[in-house]
Amino acid sequence: MPLTPEQQAEIDEERAQTRTTRRVVSEGMEEHLYTAYPVLDHGFVRVIDYMGDDNAITQAARVSYGKGTKAVSNDEGLIRYLMRHWHSTPFEMCEVKFHVKLPVFVARQWIRHRTANVNEYSARYSILDREFYIPEPEVLSAQSTINNQGRGAVLEGAEAARVLEILKGDATRSYDHYEEMLSQDGQDGLARELARMNLPANVYTQWYWKVDLHNLFHFLRLRADSHAQYEIRVYAELMCQLVKDWVPFAYGAFEDYRLGGAQLSAKGVECVRRMVAGEEVTQETSGMSKGEWREFMGVVSDPG
Ligand SMILES: Cc1cc2nc3c(=O)[nH]c(=O)nc-3n(C[C@H](O)[C@H](O)[C@H](O)COP(=O)(O)OP(=O)(O)OC[C@H]3O[C@@H](n4cnc5c(N)ncnc54)[C@H](O)[C@@H]3O)c2cc1C
Repeated sequence: MPLTPEQQAEIDEERAQTRTTRRVVSEGMEEHLYTAYPVLDHGFVRVIDYMGDDNAITQAARVSYGKGTKAVSNDEGLIRYLMRHWHSTPFEMCEVKFHVKLPVFVARQWIRHRTANVNEYSARYSILDREFYIPEPEVLSAQSTINNQGRGAVLEGAEAARVLEILKGDATRSYDHYEEMLSQDGQDGLARELARMNLPANVYTQWYWKVDLHNLFHFLRLRADSHAQYEIRVYAELMCQLVKDWVPFAYGAFEDYRLGGAQLSAKGVECVRRMVAGEEVTQETSGMSKGEWREFMGVVSDPG
């Protein structure tokens, strides 16, 4: 249960209010404002505020005085051009502020994205809730044997049951100790900033996270990717849906050129040219390492 009834009531109240404004609004994003979308077992993502829309990107690119006279199809074409040619600053004209609730080990990966503004829930000031991420059985996987930074087959039977028992038991025990150390019942009670240190990395934290669209796309490109850990990827995938409704043209271009697109090295381009000319190119004749060749073939070969 990510939200208490009181928190939900606060959100409902915010959502019920409307104001007239001269500011640009994105109809798609208006629908999402404030709504807390559940992620993992106790987490969520909700949009607190945003600035700009697709039009703000093209306006900035043209340094225009108003909406401009260009047709909508030209706006989409311009946005695709900007994305294709790595013109980043027009995308920085749009901003979004999220409220995210996430396990601490996910937050550690997330915070590496330095080009955002963050304010985190203070566990020095407040007491953390008894909320720990416990993976669903279908994502409780073994260590991958082919990728040191990845997962293999799903754990089953007694091993899966034992792992879940350990995770739940450790979380319960450490939170009980946290409460015991904090307690001022017949004792001074340890400072919150110290008592929190025995909590495991699957405890939930929360933050406000504000970022411009260019840097958000960079985050989503890395974290909605199949190489990202499942627990951060589910947040990124949800955010992709929100961004798609906020700035549909920009998201379409991002999906095409970044998420679904691929970058080739000079050697890769040369190999494609040779293949198109009918030559049978192999790893040995490509000039690429085995790893590079595997990735290259993953891009150019028919997945079917
Ligand atoms: C699948 C995956 C695995 C990873 N594994 C590891 C790992 O094992 N260990 C680990 O430590 N990290 C790991 N990372 C984190 C990764 O190395 C980056 O730190 C993280 O993705 C943030 O990327 P970024 O720096 O490009 O983003 P941001 O911090 O948002 O920066 C965006 C861009 O701004 C520029 N920039 C920002 N700050 C500076 C600066 N101070 N100086 C110069 N340029 C700057 C850079 O061009 C940067 O690309 C992993 C990331 C992914 C996606």
